[in-house]
Amino acid sequence: MTAHPRPDGHMTNGDVSFWFAQMGGPPPQRSPLPGDTEVDVAIVGAGFTGLWAAYYLLSQAPSLKVALIERAFAGFGASGRNGGWCTGNFAWNRDRYLHGGGTRAGVMALETQLRATVDEICRVAQAEGIDGGIRRTDCVTYACSPAQMARLRAERDTALDWGVPRDRLALIGGTEAGARIRIAGAEGALVEHGVARIQPARLVRGLAEAVERRGAAIHEGTTVTEIAPGRVRTDRGTVRARHILRATEGFTPGLRGHARTWLPLNSAQIATAPLPAAMWEQIGWSGFELMGDASHAYCYAQRTDDGRIVIGGRGVPYRFGSATDRNGETQPATVAALRAILQRLLPQTRDLPIEHAWCGVLGVPRDWCATVGLDPRSGIGWAGGYVGIGVSTSNHAGRTLADLVLGRDTERTGLPWVNRQPRLWEPEPLRWLAVHGMYRLYAAADRREAARRPTTTSRLARLADRLCGR
Ligand SMILES: Cc1cc2nc3c(=O)[nH]c(=O)nc-3n(C[C@H](O)[C@H](O)[C@H](O)COP(=O)(O)OP(=O)(O)OC[C@H]3O[C@@H](n4cnc5c(N)ncnc54)[C@H](O)[C@@H]3O)c2cc1C
Repeated sequence: MTAHPRPDGHMTNGDVSFWFAQMGGPPPQRSPLPGDTEVDVAIVGAGFTGLWAAYYLLSQAPSLKVALIERAFAGFGASGRNGGWCTGNFAWNRDRYLHGGGTRAGVMALETQLRATVDEICRVAQAEGIDGGIRRTDCVTYACSPAQMARLRAERDTALDWGVPRDRLALIGGTEAGARIRIAGAEGALVEHGVARIQPARLVRGLAEAVERRGAAIHEGTTVTEIAPGRVRTDRGTVRARHILRATEGFTPGLRGHARTWLPLNSAQIATAPLPAAMWEQIGWSGFELMGDASHAYCYAQRTDDGRIVIGGRGVPYRFGSATDRNGETQPATVAALRAILQRLLPQTRDLPIEHAWCGVLGVPRDWCATVGLDPRSGIGWAGGYVGIGVSTSNHAGRTLADLVLGRDTERTGLPWVNRQPRLWEPEPLRWLAVHGMYRLYAAADRREAARRPTTTSRLARLADRLCGR
């Protein structure tokens, strides 16, 4: 792909995401719901979760009538805005799944199946002719302080203890880590093999087209106002269906009755101008690795096919009352903070213009554990709460939802995340205070670990974890 630097130095803020801009801007909308209708399965939200559910339903039962109802357009949410990390990973708190009936073997089976989703996504993309900008690579998490290195070591040890294959993870020293990507002050890194980098908007749009080819109707520009057994009420009419799947992740608090189900955590990203070839020579990054760091306010980055760096991090973590952004626009302070992180890790990029900034929301359950489920009596199902690891998890969730709707007993339907019901988040202002308190403590912990260079994690970070039940 050719790089097109912007001549005017102007930065686009919002416009959903850089990924859509790279495709020529947000796509023309499909038609809205034409009025009252009846289908077998109604899916609310056309992001990865809803689309994967439709894909697997129609792959197994092609005669089903499936409709997706989407407020904006397919991929408008986190699915078309994310960092493009397709890792097959999972939120790390494995012990939580043991409470409430899960077994150790069950958690290990869940992780094994989730790792396999990276291959599965690649397989479907190839079979359906989807150009999702997929590149198989490694994920490299950098440590720039002794405490960060200790955390990576502990993460590796815990993962091995829980059955993650030895050949998937490697802890490397500073010299080897710096040879991959010249991260300033790298003391080492955790390398994870078997992951993939994607261009999220291309993948989600390609998946939407594949789902349509299999017979699903996607009604865009249609807002769901209420989900009840047997019916979905929208601003364009009512959809009656035996099964209804809620696939709205970070937007779920906007639905009636779900204000405290999941917390919409905000994440923001910036895209640089294309780097000159000489700068890439200095930096390395020739394997297009997913690059992150082990700070508490961690960042995640990728090298794009057109030679830019896209880097993301927390920004303003949470808006009062679970509000969400309008069109992905983010605050100037967040852009400055992300730029500062990039310049700290890669000082060579100091004068590089930032061409696009945007943000989005991801869903966080009160116990930070993703779930998928279906109530057989009401016929209402859901999936989400992936805590920022949703690109691959949503594939497995969609596949599991299809099994549950079709009443099939599979290797997926007995896993410990199926039909879990975490408790609700606290009402405001407690939610706002807790989340903002947590991120202030993480920032203070990062500063302390950088300045004092202890060999263990700061107690402030542990306090932050406890504050939000992480
Ligand atoms: C900035 C950012 C970076 C991320 N980076 C990564 C990453 O690199 N790797 C990773 O694994 N995960 C990442 N994630 C998380 C991941 O993108 C999400 O978990 C995943 O895309 C969720 O998919 P989804 O389909 O469940 O939700 P979404 O993609 O958010 O889709 C929900 C859809 O529901 C629609 N909707 C909402 N309310 C209504 C309504 N009332 N009526 C009708 N439709 C409605 C929305 O318009 C939206 O299209 C990131 C998230 C963000 C925000």
